[in-house]
Amino acid sequence: MSRGRRRAGHTVPGTGTDLARPAAARPPSDRTVLRVDGASKVYAGGVRALDDVSLTIDRGELLAIVGPSGSGKSTLLNLMGTLDLPSSGTVEIAGRNAAELRDRQLSVLRGRWLGFVFQQFHLTDGLSAAENVATGLLYAGVTRRRRRPLAVEALGRVGLSHRVDHLPHQLSGGEKQRVAIARALVNTPALVLADEPTGALDTANGQAVLDLLVRLNDEGTTITVITHDRDIAARLPRRVEIRDGRIVRDTRAEGTP
Ligand code: ADP
Repeated sequence: MSRGRRRAGHTVPGTGTDLARPAAARPPSDRTVLRVDGASKVYAGGVRALDDVSLTIDRGELLAIVGPSGSGKSTLLNLMGTLDLPSSGTVEIAGRNAAELRDRQLSVLRGRWLGFVFQQFHLTDGLSAAENVATGLLYAGVTRRRRRPLAVEALGRVGLSHRVDHLPHQLSGGEKQRVAIARALVNTPALVLADEPTGALDTANGQAVLDLLVRLNDEGTTITVITHDRDIAARLPRRVEIRDGRIVRDTRAEGTP
């Protein structure tokens, strides 16, 4: 066990496990970012929202998890994001079983390895675009002084260099979602989880956000999009279809494009 958690020259003390080591240094999950294995989720009251779901996501993938309302997408997203644990089966991120980590370790894991994008953006009203993006570095062990330059750089990656000091109410919906994407990216996460990222946008802005996600994936970011929209899913290279809590089709497993 190392004394501190190091990444890009920064240390976050006291997390009890070295979550900052690159996944590539930890066989056998060198290529695998996230693995869900035989996961089921039964809510209080007996609703079986997920039933024996297995899914592996490798570095560099861009995939959709697609299914109708009530099919279990949010439940699966919560497991993948370590916001909830399965009733049975396992969820591993970067080779770590989420069930074996303490709350603080899970917070660090999420902060280091995952980036979240939500349908309703979830920006903080009183903070500028750059300040909102910098909140993505809170668990990263990045000094206050370095947060703004990293945030400005991330805003550049999503085409918002001209909006860094704007407040959310001064931005369009599409721009707000790009700020939220920059916040998800700023800590170079192993995996971005985007929950209906175009759901609150008109067609043109939704298209632009999808184009942006495709470009970011071309640049190396691993991205999972959760959507009920089959047209959006059809634009992504891998589609995992979920129905009644079960994966009914995974185009990667089939080897179909
Ligand atoms: P989706 O995101 O695809 O709409 P969900 O994962 O939200 O699907 O829901 C899957 C099933 O689990 C649904 O039948 C839903 O009613 C049920 N469900 C979701 N969350 C809870 C909960 N906290 N308690 C009980 N049942 C839930």
